[in-house]
Amino acid sequence: METIVILGSTGSIGCNALQVIKLHQDKYKVFALTANGNVDLLTEQCSEFEPQFAFALNREANQQLKKNLLALNSKTIVLDDENSLDWLASHKETNTVISAIVGAAGLKPTMAAANSGKKILLANKETLVMAGELFVKAVKQSNATLIPIDSEHNAILQVLPQSKKLNYKSNGIRKILLTASGGPFRTSTKEELKHVTPKEALRHPNWIMGKKITIDSATMMNKGLEVIEACWLFDIPASDIEVVIHPQSIIHSLVEYVDGSTLAQLGNPDMRTPIAYALSHPERIESGVLGLDLIKTKRLDFEAPDLDKFPCLGLAYKALHIGNNAPTILNAANEVAVEAFLNESITFNQIAELIEFCMDAVEPQILDSIETVLEVDSKTRHLALSWIDCHNLTS
Ligand code: NAD
Ligand code: MG
Repeated sequence: METIVILGSTGSIGCNALQVIKLHQDKYKVFALTANGNVDLLTEQCSEFEPQFAFALNREANQQLKKNLLALNSKTIVLDDENSLDWLASHKETNTVISAIVGAAGLKPTMAAANSGKKILLANKETLVMAGELFVKAVKQSNATLIPIDSEHNAILQVLPQSKKLNYKSNGIRKILLTASGGPFRTSTKEELKHVTPKEALRHPNWIMGKKITIDSATMMNKGLEVIEACWLFDIPASDIEVVIHPQSIIHSLVEYVDGSTLAQLGNPDMRTPIAYALSHPERIESGVLGLDLIKTKRLDFEAPDLDKFPCLGLAYKALHIGNNAPTILNAANEVAVEAFLNESITFNQIAELIEFCMDAVEPQILDSIETVLEVDSKTRHLALSWIDCHNLTS
């Protein structure tokens, strides 16, 4: 029986993961469920999956969770300590950690899982963007296993020679093609983008996801973060990664080999497929997702990304090129910008402006520890918030 800790169980990835686990309760046992708040859903999940431990980061939510589980006579222990996420991720009885917290908050517990040699099923791409080098080093040193859940990277893993697994340089690979839906504004003009609202940006054409990643998809920063993620996961330079817009989100990514072959992974856009593959890799298990109906699908389209309209993608390539703390700055500034856009404090186009400002303003620094990464993250957030104060639409 494989014991699983889910970091972020109430989110979009967390819920999909539980749906897959539910189909295979003979193989996987939920050891702990954690979230920020959303106490009703967390209570429901605890009563259904009966984990040994549960934890909500928000204090009030955690107190309520305790009360709810007590009233239900549940055996689940609700933890109290603020380091509970790290403790669970590195617990000796934990085999596998599903890292599905959104944003920088996922870094520390995912790092704890890496340092203690766990199998990490990674959805939290921000970990690799903020601290790729340190994280990959920790995975290697502790002999941890790292498997991507992100659909593109999971697709790449599926079409790489299985014997080689992750982290290889040559092996006949010419390049990786990362597909992107293009988001809700693929066909909008640059002029139209000036006036788009959070509500419009949250309307993703193909995927139902958490708010942050949905806005990242609308700005195409998501693809930028994924380019950085792919570099670290597959040990491949950015120059060998090409982003291709594919509006139907049926091909989840491709690998081009030196003999001219291009291998792709196709499927309906449903995160249960990559989650199931991550759980069972290199075997395959039922995910609950139907196969593709190619006749109904009819056609697959492709186009080049428009970096002028979506500058966030270019900023991610720039951060990779600069290296050191630049991707950490990019990530922190983006998180603050997305939040501010959702609060209607800045416009859609100001997201990229704010990120570029922070990348220019924060001085370069070598990232020698996770503490340094967190310092850069915090410094950038302060700077970004003061930029917003000066540019705030509502003030
Ligand atoms: P979400 O907003 O739906 O869920 C986030 C989860 O994290 C929730 O359970 C929430 O309670 C928890 N959380 C939030 N802040 C926290 C904090 N400070 N401490 C502890 N827990 C906290 O997000 P999501 O869409 O499921 O995305 C999660 C991660 O997976 C992101 O990094 C995203 O980029 C990545 N991802 C998501 C999808 C998708 O389809 N949703 C696809 C690929 C990658
Ligand atoms: Mg993705």
